[in-house]
Amino acid sequence: MSARPDTVRASAVHDRYVDIDAAWLDFGPDDPLEADRWVNDCMACGKAPTLAFVDLRWQVRCECGQCGTPGQLAAIAAVNWNKSPLSLHPAYDTLPFFGLQGLSIPRAREKLIGVREYLEEQKRRCERRLRAREPFGHRYFQRIRAYLAWAIYAQGLLRETEHAILASAQADVTGRC
Ligand SMILES: [Zn+2]
Repeated sequence: MSARPDTVRASAVHDRYVDIDAAWLDFGPDDPLEADRWVNDCMACGKAPTLAFVDLRWQVRCECGQCGTPGQLAAIAAVNWNKSPLSLHPAYDTLPFFGLQGLSIPRAREKLIGVREYLEEQKRRCERRLRAREPFGHRYFQRIRAYLAWAIYAQGLLRETEHAILASAQADVTGRC
């Protein structure tokens, strides 16, 4: 007596095909799980904070006292800090992942929507397999979660660039009046 065939079938039914440009699946040569390579400097003091493992969770901490939101994965804790107003934000097209260098805002937006949709579907598939106790790659799952956090962060940086451009355009208009 086993529910396994049904479980597998249910899982297959729920898997959704995400149409994505194959070239977009190359997220870059770096590993998103090597989180401490990409922790932004602190907004308050300008120094480089560190990733610490505290109470079974990872957290970015700066010696000036600022702390990011903790995460189960070091990569998630790093992105929590990077996207918070506590850290100095880089331009979206300097991020190490997703090949955003040289992309215009509309192209980068289109690419990140596609990449995020793809990653969300991969994450759902892993979560379903985890719940169904089917074999799946734990390291792959961690990497997908890290990439997804980076994609959401990249979308936030892109919005910041758009807002800055709008604000400067409005300042120009006001200046002419
Ligand atoms: Zn600091």
